[in-house]
Formats: sequence, C-alpha cells, structure tokens
Amino acid sequence: MTRVVIIGGGSVGSSIAYHLATHPRFAGSITVVERDPTYRIASSSLSCASIRQQFSTPVNIAMSQYGLRFLQNAADALEVDGDKPLLKLNLPGYLFLASEAGLEVMRENHRVQKEMGAEVVLLGPNELRARWPWLSVDGIAAGSWGTHVEGWFDGPAMFQAVRRKARKLGAIYIAQDAVGFSMSGTRVTGVHLADGSVLECDVVVNAAGPWAARVAAFAGIDLPVRARKRMVYVVACKTPMRDFPLVIDATGIFFRPEGIGYVCGRSPGEDEPDPDEPPLEVDDAMFMDYVWPAMANRVPAFEELKLLSSWAGYYEFNIFDHNGIIGPHPSVENMIFANGFSGHGIQHSPATGRGAAELITDGRFTTLDLSPLAFTRIVENRPLVELGIV
Ligand SMILES: Cc1cc2nc3c(=O)[nH]c(=O)nc-3n(C[C@H](O)[C@H](O)[C@H](O)COP(=O)(O)OP(=O)(O)OC[C@H]3O[C@@H](n4cnc5c(N)ncnc54)[C@H](O)[C@@H]3O)c2cc1C
Repeated sequence: MTRVVIIGGGSVGSSIAYHLATHPRFAGSITVVERDPTYRIASSSLSCASIRQQFSTPVNIAMSQYGLRFLQNAADALEVDGDKPLLKLNLPGYLFLASEAGLEVMRENHRVQKEMGAEVVLLGPNELRARWPWLSVDGIAAGSWGTHVEGWFDGPAMFQAVRRKARKLGAIYIAQDAVGFSMSGTRVTGVHLADGSVLECDVVVNAAGPWAARVAAFAGIDLPVRARKRMVYVVACKTPMRDFPLVIDATGIFFRPEGIGYVCGRSPGEDEPDPDEPPLEVDDAMFMDYVWPAMANRVPAFEELKLLSSWAGYYEFNIFDHNGIIGPHPSVENMIFANGFSGHGIQHSPATGRGAAELITDGRFTTLDLSPLAFTRIVENRPLVELGIV
C-alpha cells in the first residue's frame, strides 16, 4: 500500500490523482491537500485553456497530443453517475504569424512539428489573406496554422471533472494548507497541515502551481518557479469575422474568440518588469498601449473594440527555462515535482498526470518518456529551450 499525498488540487494535482486512481498497477491511497476548494486564484481557474501542438520541443508536442486525445475522450472517461462533462472543445487552430526576422525559427519549428506528426501547415501572405480576408498581412512573411488539432476548451470544467472523477474513484481531498514536512534522511515521511495534524506518506507530490517553490522549500529544495501575473482582456467587436483561429501575432500578442467576443493579452517583454507574486490587479495601460494597437494593426476591424472585462492570474513561471519540471529531485527520493509549466500547464496536465502516476507506480515512464523534463536538467544547468512560449 503506497500512501501518496499530493499538495495542490488544481488541474495538475487532480490529473495526477485521477491517473493514479485509474493506473492498473497502483495499490494505495491518494490524498490531495488543497487549501482553497473554491480555487479562486488557482491558475487552473484563471487560465485561457488553449491547446496547441506548435511547440519547438518534441516532448511538449507529444504532451499536447495526449492532452487532445484526453479531451476528446473526456465525456466518457470522466462520466460520474451518468453525468458526462461538457468541455466545449473547439479546434479552429492556432495561427502563429512571423515577420521576415522570425521566418527561420518558424520553418525550423515546423520541421520538428511535422516530424512529430502534428497537423500544421505553413502559409504565405497570399494564402493567409485568401483564407482569412479580415487579416492584414502587412509585415508578415508567413503563418503557421495547426489544422483541426489546436484550439481551446472550458478549463475549469475540465479540471473539475477530473477532480470529481478522481474523488469518485477513491481520492480524498482535504481542505487544508500544507505547511511543512517531516523528513527522515532523504525521504519525506509526513506532510504537516495548518491545523497541526500530520499526514504520513510514502510519496509526496508537489502540484502547488504558482506556489510550488514554497512547498519545495519544506524539503530544503530551491525550485525556480515563480508566480508571475498575466492579464487577459475580454473585448467585443461589432464586425462579424468567420473561421477565427487563436492568433499569435509576430509582436507576441494573442487573441481568439470567446463566447460572443474575444479574449486577448500578452506576456511582458524581456526588458519589462515582471515581479514575483504581485497583487492580481489588472493594468488597463497594457491593453491600451500594447494589446489593442497590435490587434488593430493585424485585424483592421479591431480598430473599433469595446473592452468588456478583464482578469489576471498567475503563470507558474519556470525562471530557469520556461518548461515543466516532472519527477524527483536527486536529493529527495520520494518527492515528485510537477511544476513550472509557464503558460502551458492545463493542456499538459493530462500527460503530466499520467507520467507522474507511472513514476510513482512503476518507477519509470511507461508510455510517453517525460525524462527531458526531469529536475536533473536544472541541477546540471542544462536548459531545455522552448521557443514557443506565449
Ligand atoms: C491568464 C492565464 C492564461 C493561461 N492560459 C493557458 C492556456 O491557454 N493553455 C494552457 O495550457 N495553460 C494556460 N495557462 C497556464 C495553466 O493555467 C497552468 O499551467 C495550470 O493551470 C497549472 O495548474 P496547477 O494545478 O499546477 O496550478 P493551480 O491551478 O494554481 O493549482 C495549484 C493549487 O495548489 C494549491 N496550493 C498551493 N500551495 C498549497 C499548500 N501549501 N497547501 C495546499 N494547497 C496548496 C492552490 O490553492 C491551488 O489550488 C494560463 C494561466 C494563466 C494565469
């Protein structure tokens, strides 16, 4: 009987609980410690929940491919007592746009994506204009479009359905703050909770999202993951436009349809401030100064926009190389990390959950090899560079 305690019950922690509960060889108990069952500021609640295969690293592409299959099968797999979740999966694709300066990188990414079996096509300016007549191709050398395999879904509905199924299959969720560990040599033997109780464990999992560095520190480990604020704006546009994909402009801003309007945003540039865990207040200047001008430049109909609402959430940002970290740290043998996905964590939560469940049960990855995301790359200072961070 393996006693597994997972700290954090968002999309990643709940996916680990679900995949453990459905793993044919897992025998043991699954306890998820989640301090806020409302998930008010969890990343998984505030996510744009988009999914793509247009990454530059094979492991990220493969994780999204499993994520897509998981979403497509979710209604049946996550059914509880006859109730099937509705995840509103939409697959009109991502459209990455590149200027002349970005063309070489786009071509190289395309090569890797095709090798991985991703359904992506490169389009020149004339093809872009013909397919999406509302798009301005000024300054655009090419676009890369993921046909039928990319889009977006209802993120909160997805992780709540995973959580509900995990509970149905026996996982216990405890509404408590984890505040420390008991250690014996290189092993974590207990998780201390804010009410003074201790959960004894054989394996502990850090799935604490943007707050994962605090949990790592319980075991004396320095985890390079920080809570970085990202803002999303919801706008309406009176001009109807058809077949709208998720557009990543050459400037780095993104926009895509959502309900009757659009969501849009941008990550701060390298030279702009990006403090750790600032208050989740929305700064309209980001929209006025950067996002709207770039949108109007790319889609002239966006000259006339109405800002309806906005929100901010934390990316669990890996300051080392912007990629997920999955697996143990060399100095603590029974602590599994599942952190640092830096803006692509909800789409990768199914693959992360499955991989972590395999590590815990079988001691190795048995389906998709996630070892490129091992903690050792950080300890050995070997960054895994992903060029497609949005
Ligand atoms: C604005 C925004 C847009 C995004 N867009 C996308 C997107 O389009 N596609 C995509 O794939 N990803 C996107 N992401 C990223 C994605 O949402 C995250 O990577 C993912 O949700 C991380 O899930 P998580 O379970 O690790 O973290 P969370 O959902 O934050 O869950 C962590 C949980 O741990 C709990 N916790 C923390 N510490 C403790 C403790 N000590 N004790 C008990 N509980 C604790 C917290 O309460 C929290 O509920 C976006 C994120 C944001 C903010």
